Amino acid sequence: TAKENGRGQFSVFSTEMNQRVFEYLWLDTNLRKALELSQLVIHYQPKLDVDGTVSSVEALVRWLSPERGLLRPDRFISYAEESGLIVPLGRWVMLTVLEQILEWRKRGIFLRVAVNVSARQLIDQSIYTDLKLALDEAGLESCPIDIELTESCLMENESQALVLMGEFQQLGASVHLDDFGTGYSSLSQLARVPIDAIKLDQSFIRNVDEKAVSQSLVRAIVAVARALDLQVIAEGIETEEEEAFALACGVDVRQGYLYAKPMPVDELEHWLAHYLVKA
Ligand code: C2E
Ligand code: MG
Ligand code: MG
Ligand code: MG
Repeated sequence: TAKENGRGQFSVFSTEMNQRVFEYLWLDTNLRKALELSQLVIHYQPKLDVDGTVSSVEALVRWLSPERGLLRPDRFISYAEESGLIVPLGRWVMLTVLEQILEWRKRGIFLRVAVNVSARQLIDQSIYTDLKLALDEAGLESCPIDIELTESCLMENESQALVLMGEFQQLGASVHLDDFGTGYSSLSQLARVPIDAIKLDQSFIRNVDEKAVSQSLVRAIVAVARALDLQVIAEGIETEEEEAFALACGVDVRQGYLYAKPMPVDELEHWLAHYLVKA
């Protein structure tokens, strides 16, 4: 028991617990407020087609906390998932992205945007109905959004997830399997889920040029994707060597710090205006 473990150990344990409880309570009071007070912002990271064209970007949420500065999603998304706040947060992301797409179109910028969606959001049908309503209101016939789901989304509520994925596709959205290779889904599972692309996890790409095992894995995954007519996206490309390998393997779309980090919308527009396609 804690008592028998001695004073020292007990107090270390309780300090850690206190910190976790404190963090939870801080998020509990502040994340809901952040949503109401418009402290969340979306940064956009470009994705490059084989020829270097940028036809889509990924939306990655950030929190501009007056108290703590710019917070990345790993600091608050899992709390949002646990508390259920991910549902209104995800709705805000989706609708903000759609508004941004429409605003760009008025100015002749045609970009698709990838939106990350958590398992918890799929349990709540509203993600689909909200999107459909917003598309109808905007008069858009086909949805210019790519939905990025992780393998755990499929595990956690498979039958409902599969139905929703099909419905998203009927709206014209594409469904991408994010962080592919880190979960427990098998390659054979890919054949029976309604997806359009897999997004290879960064861990496969990291130093791939120096790692024979990663090279074989990436080649095998690309071959399976080809056979199933799925696109392959490589994320987290940081070096020329990683890029060269991805291209040699036949990766269709690439993304990473080598090209651009996620940026606020004005920076993205500036980046796009100065970006020269390197074919
Ligand atoms: P993800 O969807 O797998 O996004 C990739 C993450 O890798 C992003 O981190 C991105 O900034 C980072 N990244 C991109 N290129 C590179 C690179 O070349 N090198 C390295 N080291 N990292 C790179 P970020 O923005 O912190 O997002 C983390 C995760 O949070 C995302 O992983 C996604 O799962 C989740 N997330 C972000 N926005 C949302 C959202 O609106 N809704 C939900 N449900 N989840 C979100
Ligand atoms: Mg993603
Ligand atoms: Mg990913
Ligand atoms: Mg990830």
